[in-house]
Amino acid sequence: MAGHGHEEAHDETAGPKVLAVSKVSPKVRTIAVVRPSEHDVTYLEAARKGLGVTLRHFMKNFFGKRRPAEALAKGEAVEPRSRFKPAWNEIETIQYPEEKTHYPERFRGLHRLMQREDGNVRCVACMCCPTVCPANCITIIPAESDDKGVEKKPAVFEIDELRCVVCGLCVEACPCDAIRMDSGVHAKPVENRGDAIMTRELLLGLSADVGKDPQSTATQGGEGPDWRG
Ligand code: SF4
Ligand code: SF4
Repeated sequence: MAGHGHEEAHDETAGPKVLAVSKVSPKVRTIAVVRPSEHDVTYLEAARKGLGVTLRHFMKNFFGKRRPAEALAKGEAVEPRSRFKPAWNEIETIQYPEEKTHYPERFRGLHRLMQREDGNVRCVACMCCPTVCPANCITIIPAESDDKGVEKKPAVFEIDELRCVVCGLCVEACPCDAIRMDSGVHAKPVENRGDAIMTRELLLGLSADVGKDPQSTATQGGEGPDWRG
């Protein structure tokens, strides 16, 4: 290498081993090419290890015991089983709707539309939410409001929950607390795409506490710490 204007160099950094650097152009280097061993080239060892991991998971989930239903519902961590007992099954099937699994606290659920104290929908059809919606899944057709203090109301307000990406931007954009995402209700399974569209009436019928408060009333300007009630 020295005969080609190279000088011996030591590799001080991680990476390919540098054998020599050109005196004329230091960027020109001679490196040692490390070829994989014949053992590695066949990938047999890696395939054997991978199959071992797959088999271990299969055995654990096939023979493993199902976690208690109460622990599943509450989302509680279950103590690992001792080494002399089969491990917990990690692919257990939840028998929904008889059994429900725990949702994280920040799970939003379907949208809901709020109403005023007089029962009218709070939405004033300002079009902020369909404008900001990245999935373009909100359809609003405005109409003139009967209330003299409110210019418009939504004659049609629909959200296509199949297209919604649950970003929450519509809630952030709304200037009058007319739309919220805190129902905690999971989107229902549908066979036709059209069935996933939430109409104004469906959205008004959801509340933050389904079963107790079928309608959602928001106080103008909010009230105290329970303003989201
Ligand atoms: S949550 Fe996001 S994607 Fe869904 S309707 Fe609101 S803005 Fe659109
Ligand atoms: S941002 Fe609020 S008030 Fe405006 S159209 Fe959407 S829900 Fe109605």
